Amino acid sequence: MNIDFGTTEKVIGIDLGTTNSLAAFLDLTGPKIIPGADGDKLVPSVVSISPSGEVVVGNAARELLITQPGRTVYSVKRLMGRGLDDIQEELKLFPFHLASGSESVLQLQIGDRTYTPPEISALILRQLKQNAEAYFGEPVSKAVITVPAYFNDAQRQATKDAGRIAGLEVLRLVNEPTAASLAYGLDKRENGTIAVYDLGGGTFDISILKLHDGIFEVLATNGDTHLGGDDIDNLLLRIALEDVQGEWGEDLAGDSEGVQRVRRAVIQAKERLSFVPFTDISLEYRGNKYQREIQRELFDKLIAPIVDRTLGPCRDCIKDAGVTPEQIDEVVMVGGSTRIPLVRTAVENLFRSKPHTELNPDEVVALGAAVQAAILSGDVADKLLLDVTPLSLGIETMGGVVSKLIHRNSTIPASATESFTTGVDGQRNVLIHVVQGERELVKDNRSLARFDLKDIDPMPAGLARIEVRFLIDANGILNVTARDLRTGKEHSIDVKPSYGLTDEQVEKMIQESFEKAEQDFQERQVREARVEADTILAAVEKARRHDAYFELSDDERSAMDRAINELLLVYHSEDHHLILNKNEQLNQVTMKLAENMMNTAVRGALKGTKI
Ligand code: ADP
Ligand code: MG
Repeated sequence: MNIDFGTTEKVIGIDLGTTNSLAAFLDLTGPKIIPGADGDKLVPSVVSISPSGEVVVGNAARELLITQPGRTVYSVKRLMGRGLDDIQEELKLFPFHLASGSESVLQLQIGDRTYTPPEISALILRQLKQNAEAYFGEPVSKAVITVPAYFNDAQRQATKDAGRIAGLEVLRLVNEPTAASLAYGLDKRENGTIAVYDLGGGTFDISILKLHDGIFEVLATNGDTHLGGDDIDNLLLRIALEDVQGEWGEDLAGDSEGVQRVRRAVIQAKERLSFVPFTDISLEYRGNKYQREIQRELFDKLIAPIVDRTLGPCRDCIKDAGVTPEQIDEVVMVGGSTRIPLVRTAVENLFRSKPHTELNPDEVVALGAAVQAAILSGDVADKLLLDVTPLSLGIETMGGVVSKLIHRNSTIPASATESFTTGVDGQRNVLIHVVQGERELVKDNRSLARFDLKDIDPMPAGLARIEVRFLIDANGILNVTARDLRTGKEHSIDVKPSYGLTDEQVEKMIQESFEKAEQDFQERQVREARVEADTILAAVEKARRHDAYFELSDDERSAMDRAINELLLVYHSEDHHLILNKNEQLNQVTMKLAENMMNTAVRGALKGTKI
C-alpha cells in the first residue's frame, strides 16, 4: 500500500494563434487559463529579437513593432509549413523580411541571423512554457497544441517542430474547432452536428464537425485567411486619421508611431463597443488631442460589409458538409471578434439557433486543448477522443489515376497496406507520388510528396511486387513506406512536402536550443525531487491530524519525525539523489499510517452503508 501523492507531470494545452496565443491546464474544477508574468492571459503572437539575441515575446514585443519593425515578427503562423510560392499573397499584405535562400526553406532575416517560422513560433511556445512553469513552480515538458482544421501535413509538421524546438513534447495536435467543442463539453452529447464559427484577428474559419459516438469528424471547412478584427481596425483607423487631419491639419499616415497610437485608440474603442452602446475614440499625441464619440449603431453600419463577408463561406461550408442549417445542433463561437453583437446576430440568423458564447471566445480553444491534454495524461478517465482524417490519401497509379489507401473519415491513427506492380518491362525505379483528395484523377487532387524507390529487380511488367504502406499517426502526420518484396529494398518518408524542414535542420535547431541541456537537466531533476518532497511533506502533515496517526506507537511516530527532519536537512541540497533517497525513506515509514488511514476510511464507508 502506498499513498498516491499525484506527482504526475502536468500536460498543458496551447492555442498557438495568429494574433494571440495562450496556455491552459485542467484542474479539479475544470480548464483554466495560465496567466503570463504581466498578469495578462493572452500573449500576443509577436516576437522581437534584439541585436544581442535577447528575445521578447507578447505585449512587450508588440510595443517594439513601432520602434524595432525590422527585428519584430508577427503573424508568423501564416508562414508555418509554407513555401515561397504559397505565401505570395501574404507578402503583399505583411512586412515579412525574408532571407535569401528562402526558395528552398523559408527564413526570416532578423539582423544578421535568419530564423525559420517554426523557430519563431518556438519562441512563443517557450514563453508559454515558462509562464506555466512559473505558475506551477515545476517543470513542464509536455503539451497539446491546436491547429486550424484546414492545416495540411506540412503545416502540422511545422507546428510539431516548433514544439520540439521549444523543448516541448507535443503529445497531440488537435483541430481548433474540435478543441472549442471540447471546451463546451459537446463530446458528452455523443452524437450531433456542430458548426464552429471562428473570427479572430486576421483570419476567419468556419468548420462543420460531426460527432458520432464521441468521435469528432471534420465534415467541411471554409473561411477567409484575410478577414478578421484587423479589417475592422483598419476601417476605423482610416476614419480617425481623416478626422485627425481635419482637426490638427496634420497627416499622420507617414508617421508610424502616430499611426500606431491611433490604431491602439480605435482598437480600444472597438472592444468597448461590444459591451456598451457608445464610447469615445480618444487619444493625445504630441500635445494634440483627438476625441470622437462613436455609437454602436454607426459602428454596425460600418462593419456590416465585413460581417457579411463571413456568411458566404458559411453557406458554402454547410453545403459542402451536406447538411441543412436545421440539422446543425450546436453553434460554437470562437475568436475575440465574435464578442461583437452584430457578429452574434448574423450567426444566429444564419444558423437559426443561438450560438454558444458562455466561455470567453479568445480562450475557448486553449481551454479545449487543456481538456485534451488531461485526457492524454490520464487525468480524465473514461473518455475516448479521436479525430478523423478529413481527406483521402493515396498514390498515383498508371494513367494518372489515384489509388486510395486511406479513405477520408478514417479514425486516426490509421494504417493501410497495398501491393502494386510495375507497368513497364525491365523497370528499375518506381515513382511513388502521394496525393490527397477525393477526386479520381491525380491532377484534381493535392500533391503531397514524391519519392523514388530505386534499383528494384528488373522484371517483365506486372510481375514486380511493390508493397506500399501508409501510416497516419495520432497527429494526422503521414508516413509512407514502399518496399520491393523481392529484394526487400525499402524507402520511407514522413510526408512533408518539399518545402518542409528536413530532419537535419530540425535536429540542428534542437541541438542549438539544448546547448545547456545537461545543466538544465540537472536543475530539473533537483526541482522535481523537491516538488516530490513538497507533496510528501504536505500529505504527511495532513495525515498527522488523522485519527489513524494516534493509533501509531510512540516508536513509529518518532521514526516518522526523524525521517521528516532528515528530508528537511537535504531539501536544499543540489543533489537530487539525496533528496529522492530521503523522500523514499519518509514514504517507507509512513506506509503503515497510509494503510491505517485507508482502513478507517473503509470502516467509515461500511458504517454508512444503508440497506
Ligand atoms: P487569433 O485567433 O487570430 O489569434 P483572437 O481570437 O485572439 O485571435 O482574436 C483577436 C481579435 O479579437 C482582435 O482583432 C481583437 O481586437 C478582437 N477582440 C478582442 N476582444 C474584442 C471585443 N471585446 N470586441 C471586439 N473585438 C475584440
Ligand atoms: Mg484563434
